[in-house]
Amino acid sequence: MRIAISGAGVAGPTLAWWLARAGHDITLIESAPAFRAGGYVIDFWGVGYSVAERMGLLPRVLRAGYHFESLRLVDDKGRKVGGFSTRPLRRLTGERLTSLPRGDLAQIIFDDLGGRVETRFGDSITGVDQGPDAVRLTFDRSTPGAFDLLIGADGLHSNVRRLVFGPQERFEKDLGYRVAAFETVGYRPRDERVYLAHSPPGRQIARFALDGDRTVFMLVFGAELIDGPEPRSAEAQRAVLRRIYGEVGWEAPAILDAMEAAPDLYFDRVSQIRMDRWSEGRVILLGDAASAVSLLAGEGTGLAMTEAYVLAGELARANGDHRQAFAAHEARLRPFISGKQKAAEGMAASFVPRTSLGVWVRNQVTRLMSLPGLAGLFLGGSVKDDFELPDYRL
Ligand SMILES: Cc1cc2nc3c(=O)[nH]c(=O)nc-3n(C[C@H](O)[C@H](O)[C@H](O)COP(=O)(O)OP(=O)(O)OC[C@H]3O[C@@H](n4cnc5c(N)ncnc54)[C@H](O)[C@@H]3O)c2cc1C
Repeated sequence: MRIAISGAGVAGPTLAWWLARAGHDITLIESAPAFRAGGYVIDFWGVGYSVAERMGLLPRVLRAGYHFESLRLVDDKGRKVGGFSTRPLRRLTGERLTSLPRGDLAQIIFDDLGGRVETRFGDSITGVDQGPDAVRLTFDRSTPGAFDLLIGADGLHSNVRRLVFGPQERFEKDLGYRVAAFETVGYRPRDERVYLAHSPPGRQIARFALDGDRTVFMLVFGAELIDGPEPRSAEAQRAVLRRIYGEVGWEAPAILDAMEAAPDLYFDRVSQIRMDRWSEGRVILLGDAASAVSLLAGEGTGLAMTEAYVLAGELARANGDHRQAFAAHEARLRPFISGKQKAAEGMAASFVPRTSLGVWVRNQVTRLMSLPGLAGLFLGGSVKDDFELPDYRL
């Protein structure tokens, strides 16, 4: 089949990898002018880890990954007030856990495609016209073309979802937080292999040291603190962050200065995507486009890879009958993904509590998590992947 995939993030290249292996003719369309590596650091484990293993990519993923040893919460003077060692977490995942920049994981998958698929950077789909035998696409830059299937793997703000299913507002569940992330070189101090965070009510500001003298920062805060319209330009976003974090103490002033010097600032809503169905005719959505779980699940990349693997497998099993494959894909994954979304929604209040009491309770709970058995009690439910990865013999 001729298959167009919109989005060369995590889900898109993973699907392209499996479909190309099955002999399909794939065109990847990516709006960014070139492949984007780096970015915020993600935790990678669970069922997605097993998909990477089946792709033979695990050695490269582990080489690029960081084995982070602890989460440390500090107060406005930098004194430790909570946190835990990741040892119990590692045990819970059977030592199958690593952390790496999202874009580095995406790059490993993309590089392994090795030119087996056509990739069009700097392009975007502008029109989707579904007929009985094909889906006709128009593009920003390329000439129009007909495909057997169109896959929307273009993330939280999916273009294909908007064109085929309707406006973002209809499907987005705003969890009430905003997130910003950026990377700089040469920041001091560095605490190797530690996720270090300061989290007064309604806010979290954290740093994680990477190789090459880089540091990644992540700031999460309650949306109500914006106190005005959503900032759209990078300049307005920087101004909002300066106001919200200006007085919180710890290293915030230095981190805000580092932000001014950072070339890229990621700023977005912490949202989920919830849809009644993921496909329409010859079009199906995948990854964040279909069912973003949000950063609070800590597993969006792994789930995106799992969805890609299952879709490729179901297409093979159905001998290319896309109706049957799309239905089987959704039936298999929907209960699992819905469970992840519910768990992530429940995490929001403890990730960034909005009251002093909530902060105190969260800090005490994180201390208890270093005790044998208690990490399982607090995190076991959300760490465990209640999903049997089918063997499609692809
Ligand atoms: C701050 C933060 C922390 C996170 N932490 C974790 C974590 O610890 N663990 C974890 O597993 N997940 C985490 N996630 C979630 C994870 O990043 C996503 O779930 C994952 O990247 C989803 O993959 P995707 O391929 O569906 O979408 P993306 O990775 O978003 O890729 C979408 C791609 O589509 C492209 N695109 C967009 N518009 C168009 C268009 N019009 N045409 C063509 N292409 C387009 C984009 O440029 C991008 O390349 C985090 C997310 C955030 C924001």
